[in-house]
Amino acid sequence: MKTLVLILGDQLDINSSALRNFDPSSDEVIMIESRNESDYVWSHKAKIAIFLSAMRHFAEALKEKKIPLTYVKESCLAIEEVLRQQLIEKRVTHLRCVEPGEWRLKLAIEDLARELNLNLDMLDDDHFYCTNAEFREWATDKKELRLEYFYRHMRKKHHVLMDEESQPIGGQWNFDDQNRKPYSKNGPGFINEPLEFPADETTREVFDFVTRQYPTHPGSLAHFVWPVTREQALAALDHFVNHRLASFGTYQDAMWKETPFGWHSILSTSLNLKLLNPREVIKSVLDAYQNSALDLATVEGFIRQIIGWREFVRGIYYLDMPQMAQANFYQHQRALPNWYWTGETKMNCMKDTVGQTLKYGYAHHIQRLMITGNFALLAEVLPQQVSDWYLAIYVDAIEWVELPNVVGMALFANGGRFTSKPYIASGAYVKRMSNYCDRCQYKPEVRYGEQACPMTNLYWNFLINHQSAFNQNPRTRLMTANLSKISTEDQQLIQDHAKMILANIDLI
Ligand SMILES: Cc1cc2nc3c(=O)[nH]c(=O)nc-3n(C[C@H](O)[C@H](O)[C@H](O)COP(=O)(O)OP(=O)(O)OC[C@H]3O[C@@H](n4cnc5c(N)ncnc54)[C@H](O)[C@@H]3O)c2cc1C
Ligand code: SF4
Repeated sequence: MKTLVLILGDQLDINSSALRNFDPSSDEVIMIESRNESDYVWSHKAKIAIFLSAMRHFAEALKEKKIPLTYVKESCLAIEEVLRQQLIEKRVTHLRCVEPGEWRLKLAIEDLARELNLNLDMLDDDHFYCTNAEFREWATDKKELRLEYFYRHMRKKHHVLMDEESQPIGGQWNFDDQNRKPYSKNGPGFINEPLEFPADETTREVFDFVTRQYPTHPGSLAHFVWPVTREQALAALDHFVNHRLASFGTYQDAMWKETPFGWHSILSTSLNLKLLNPREVIKSVLDAYQNSALDLATVEGFIRQIIGWREFVRGIYYLDMPQMAQANFYQHQRALPNWYWTGETKMNCMKDTVGQTLKYGYAHHIQRLMITGNFALLAEVLPQQVSDWYLAIYVDAIEWVELPNVVGMALFANGGRFTSKPYIASGAYVKRMSNYCDRCQYKPEVRYGEQACPMTNLYWNFLINHQSAFNQNPRTRLMTANLSKISTEDQQLIQDHAKMILANIDLI
């Protein structure tokens, strides 16, 4: 054999650069199901299932194309252990793969190649618009790494929503201020539901395996409706663009009890498994914009997530690893409350967000950022425990995208490396953007005492503790200006109540 091509569980792209120049007469593909990948964090059952099912379907697609394949099923060994055995057994001297989406795997493969004296060809992941080298170059002369400038660079470079004079269509780059509306007080009304993909035989086999092997892992398989093939991913894209995109922008930040998906695209799993290419997502959205009466603010808002945030966090991940994984700017040390794994809390916003997460392995961006993320920051939880939770519990979680979002966006644990302020909010924000507070036993406007909303109490406690730093930042000064309107006595009562909450965090 000339070359063994390793395809990992999140690299299911039939047009992958690793398969280019593939010679079936002498090359072979290897795919490995490893137990280690399912339990190095305590993964949601649906997360394990989506990876295994998508991998098995992809293996079928390779076989149909008559690509020689070794598929190692349900191995108890780590990927690199299986790979070592196979490389030795097959006497392979050349290993080719696309750069993995998790740093630990990249190191493990590089170490193995050194150990076995292999010729390793680790290729750039050209699924992304921006290579790691290009991002590094873009970042080199920047005093601050900010999404907005990177996003403009990407729009110009790829000529997305630009006019003939190379100016942004609509005269501005960003319509974010139009994309933050809550639902009406009567609720979201009719929402076109996302497409669902009932389990086929392959997926049902995976369910049996996951149920047998991972009975104590969190989450449920009962509501598993994720796309697991390229055809399904394309259908999901088509459905979103034709039936849901029009309302995506306006209600991007809105939350409503038992409305888990809102108008969101639910495309992250397909994108991250590489069943969909971001270029075809952008093309599909731009075509729809040209051919129908879609609002520019919605289209721009969606495109910003794909060629802006998604590419940006990936660039930052490779720029800042491995130290990003240890970042702890505030030196927070508290353990993650147990109810992050069960949803058993009296806080309605948390109960709903964690509850739907256990049910589907999904929560949308604002729930991840302003509910579970916000609370973890205000409650001073150790960033590495928070990150492990996000990596375990979301079906779309792969470290390159999960870690920067948790450490950088939600927790400010890297000290504002790419955000200008910590994203913190009190119950007043939750009340404005959702109906969670309506039937909560806590009151969002109460800062201390029996009825005090923990989000509100810990928000003010956080401001008191970080008052001088917040005063020095023009973007947070307004928050501490409001703090100065609270009497010293009340501030003391807030802090006393916060101590009590933090000491009993598993019981709130
Ligand atoms: C604390 C935290 C953890 C997160 N962890 C993950 C994760 O593990 N995996 C993941 O894919 N996304 C993660 N995100 C980003 C975002 O929340 C999800 O991409 C989004 O909720 C997925 O749902 P959707 O496909 O319906 O997205 P939509 O809201 O419809 O957005 C469209 C697409 O834009 C991309 N996107 C949007 N926001 C971001 C972002 N901040 N970073 C990267 N891509 C983005 C995604 O590919 C998404 O599918 C996280 C965000 C936060 C705040
Ligand atoms: S009152 Fe506080 S805890 Fe209850 S739902 Fe509102 S923000 Fe969440």
